[in-house]
Amino acid sequence: MAAHPIGVHVGPGLTEDNQLDDGGPLARAAEMDADGVQVFLGDPQGWKAPLPRPDAEDLLASDVAVFVHAPYVLNVASTNNRIRIPSRKNLAVNARAAAAIGARGMVVHGGHVLAKDDPAAGFDNWRKTFARQAGDGGFPLPLLIENTAGGDNAMARELGAVSRLWDAVGEFDAGFVLDTCHAWAAGWDLATAVDDVRAVTGRIDLVHLNNSRDPQGSGRDRHAPLTAGEIPLELLLEVARAADCPVVLETPGDAASHAEEVALVREALGEA
Ligand SMILES: [Zn+2]
Repeated sequence: MAAHPIGVHVGPGLTEDNQLDDGGPLARAAEMDADGVQVFLGDPQGWKAPLPRPDAEDLLASDVAVFVHAPYVLNVASTNNRIRIPSRKNLAVNARAAAAIGARGMVVHGGHVLAKDDPAAGFDNWRKTFARQAGDGGFPLPLLIENTAGGDNAMARELGAVSRLWDAVGEFDAGFVLDTCHAWAAGWDLATAVDDVRAVTGRIDLVHLNNSRDPQGSGRDRHAPLTAGEIPLELLLEVARAADCPVVLETPGDAASHAEEVALVREALGEA
């Protein structure tokens, strides 16, 4: 297995009736010559518990590194009970389903609180999420918190927020996902981002290597192909090298263009 698996986000890879869509994620990985895939377990905009996957055994047995992305609707930081409580529940349910397919980690966005809220309440809600789960034996796989692109009172947009978040969740062995498009949108210096993050989290578990359609600091979350965005390609590749961990591409494009991107990153990481 590659020391630094390079994967591609492929969505659920399922049809409406929970069958494999055109062979499913493993077929996509083979098509793109990727070492990894990132999948959704269901509708990323929905709250439904994931169904058992028809490819669960194959994913478990595969050498392909599998990462799961939790639904976008989850916000465990929220001060609104009607969002926070189902978010926690759904997070736990998704984590179990992710572990059942042998995923190496589950990515979840840092979330946010409302403008009127004290961000401290959001960081504390994150702490409680881990603390309650620890009471139930902990998450069955690493939970990887991703930095986000925009919005006020976000829990993982600014480096200062990530630092406060880690004061709250670091003791629970939380993992970190560095998304280069989001970091760029939030105005981070990508030349130092890996060191800057490690200085507060002590770790980076996964890189979402994406270019951006918008200028630095835009706050906009519009991913671009690696070679066709506002972020200089070499800066992106240097992040991947410095992070020294698995990479997942969440770039727009077809199988052929993703195969080219996988090869490009593989070469840059000296894995070719
Ligand atoms: Zn991402």
